[in-house]
Amino acid sequence: MRDEVDAVVVGGGIAGLTAALTLASAGRRVAVLEQDRQLGGYVTSFRRRGYTFDSVVDGISGLAPGGPLRRILEYGGLDAEGLVLDLPVARSGYFGEERLDFPAEGSAWRAYLERRFPGEAASIGRLLDAILSCFEVASRGTLAALWGDGAAGIPRGDPFVRWRDRTYAEVLEEAGVRDPRLRLALCERLMFLGGGPDRISAVSVANLLGSTWRFGCQRIRGGLYRLVNSLVAAIREKGGTVKAGHVVEEVAPEGGGFVLEASPGGRFRAAQVLVACDPVAFLDRVWQGPHPEGDALDRARAFPRSGSFFLAYLGVRGRFPEAPASFGVFSDPEGTDFEDSRLEGDAPTFGVGVATNVDPSLAPEGCSTVVVHAFVPAGRTLAEGERKRLLERALVRLERFLPGVAGRVEWSETAGPATLERYTRNPGGAAYGFSQTPERFRLAHDLAASAPSGIRFAGHWTGFGGGVLAAALSGYAAARDLLGVPAAAR
Ligand SMILES: Cc1cc2nc3c(=O)[nH]c(=O)nc-3n(C[C@H](O)[C@H](O)[C@H](O)COP(=O)(O)OP(=O)(O)OC[C@H]3O[C@@H](n4cnc5c(N)ncnc54)[C@H](O)[C@@H]3O)c2cc1C
Repeated sequence: MRDEVDAVVVGGGIAGLTAALTLASAGRRVAVLEQDRQLGGYVTSFRRRGYTFDSVVDGISGLAPGGPLRRILEYGGLDAEGLVLDLPVARSGYFGEERLDFPAEGSAWRAYLERRFPGEAASIGRLLDAILSCFEVASRGTLAALWGDGAAGIPRGDPFVRWRDRTYAEVLEEAGVRDPRLRLALCERLMFLGGGPDRISAVSVANLLGSTWRFGCQRIRGGLYRLVNSLVAAIREKGGTVKAGHVVEEVAPEGGGFVLEASPGGRFRAAQVLVACDPVAFLDRVWQGPHPEGDALDRARAFPRSGSFFLAYLGVRGRFPEAPASFGVFSDPEGTDFEDSRLEGDAPTFGVGVATNVDPSLAPEGCSTVVVHAFVPAGRTLAEGERKRLLERALVRLERFLPGVAGRVEWSETAGPATLERYTRNPGGAAYGFSQTPERFRLAHDLAASAPSGIRFAGHWTGFGGGVLAAALSGYAAARDLLGVPAAAR
């Protein structure tokens, strides 16, 4: 077979599918090739015995009416009405004995925390304003403009410029946050970014928190696979090709375009290639042309990967109406080191999703889905016996929040870094591509700049990094770039 298209997208995660929709909507002949049997990458669900689990993702931002992801989907002709469930509370946290319910929307979040920490109202306000401002600049600009040229055109005092190369700990200090309980509350979402505030980039945190405060927090009703199916249907409706179970093995330059070899048996000719997966693996193992000049690839090879997760999926008889739909457990009042699982030990730190509390359609009547997630370093081997022990520990830990859960589990399964790697080819099961440290942005910028002509990178290894919204926006921006039009304001 030799298919001739305008663009091939390597990888059918959210970045690849968003890019393909954007290209197909502009009339380009596009083919998406995904190595796994299921499309969506990390944005996926699975079903067991009447229970539907979103494999990893807990909440998405930007899908409410008017949000950037919603607008991209609508521009591609996809009707998101009925798909999206808006969550007024983005996440809850148990900090010792205290429970906090963090509103998704920014001003509600601010008022809530000001009530809880009245003595810190000024620092809360300073942090919120600066995070939103940083997010605005970061999400409207591109890495080329913001990192390459020293943030040209942005006033020097802007939070983005001050924060560009800083950690989150530095900006918490700058905002004047003093109360350690408040500091921990302001760090709770770092559990997803895989590190403590001393390591994680202020811009990464601004992207995560700012996107939620500005565009809310949503889930896909009935499971993420419905979003993926809708995206695939919309791409195909516009004449695009989407193939699951097709590994792109080789891409070589030929006659001003590219020839791609996919397995099983497929040969494609494309004028342009959009790489929506790990760029290092692509350049090292797939790309057959001359290697990029400069040291970006060497630096990328050596750069740490973001953390991964241990996950336990439970189908449970009964409901837990008192429990939040998504929460973190923080037993150590000073502990903001989220780099390793603390399901074991004296001071557990882990996360829990009871998605059926906001979407009962995910389980048989009167039943619940429970997903436990705990951070582990990327590449950590979790043998079956170890996963079993972590599951047992999780059930003990859960008792306080979901009373009686251990005796009502109908079905359970666990996953670790190797599982995440197998399904998505993110090395070591890295949840967010490169480690979310300040240096990551310059690396992503330099790597993009070194890409062979006609090739664009997208996804969470690139652009503004981890998270569904950031990955989708990078796919959109890379597609617009291939089309020769600048990414519209987000
Ligand atoms: C446990 C966990 C929890 C998370 N929670 C959240 C959350 O609550 N909210 C949030 O916004 N984000 C969350 N994230 C992060 C988010 O899921 C990712 O950042 C985002 O989905 C990445 O999308 P992507 O398209 O860039 O990459 P991926 O989803 O990794 O997609 C890349 C695709 O490329 C394919 N591929 C790779 N190589 C090839 C090849 N040679 N040929 C063909 N196909 C190939 C892969 O199979 C994969 O499908 C979480 C991640 C994890 C792991």
